[in-house]
Amino acid sequence: MVTEKQHIEAELIPILEQVYDPEIPVLSVLDMGVVRSAVIESDIAKIKITPTYSGCPAMDVIGDDIRKALKQKGYESEIELILSPAWTTDWITPKGRKALEAFGIAAPLDPEADKDALLGNKKIVKCTHCGSTNTKLISQFGSTACKALFKCNDCNEPFDYFKCLK
Ligand SMILES: [Zn+2]
Repeated sequence: MVTEKQHIEAELIPILEQVYDPEIPVLSVLDMGVVRSAVIESDIAKIKITPTYSGCPAMDVIGDDIRKALKQKGYESEIELILSPAWTTDWITPKGRKALEAFGIAAPLDPEADKDALLGNKKIVKCTHCGSTNTKLISQFGSTACKALFKCNDCNEPFDYFKCLK
């Protein structure tokens, strides 16, 4: 799979690191991998973002949040949506995956394993509370369409699993 290389200007990184995914307040738009490029051209910050899940209402919010964060630092900005190549959960950074788990959302598996997990074929999704893989799928859709709801058979706690998306 070809993943377009991210190009993010160094001075914009600290600003974008402060913009969080509205649904997952511990994950910055950089860790989420939605910012494809961020450059300054003739005093305007030009940001290209790729929506995570198509139709995810969070994307409008993310665009606005990025604009606001840049404005606060004195940058005018232009936000452009890039739909191709489509965002994949592979773009979540290792730091982002850790943050997800710490927040109580199981990080996405690879696509094959993801399918098995969502079809209930295999027990591979780890409980975010106790780490057990003795978990079961409760619903394909968790608190949002991007997540599935699992329940741990060992500690009995429910948790969200961030679905893999290619
Ligand atoms: Zn558990």
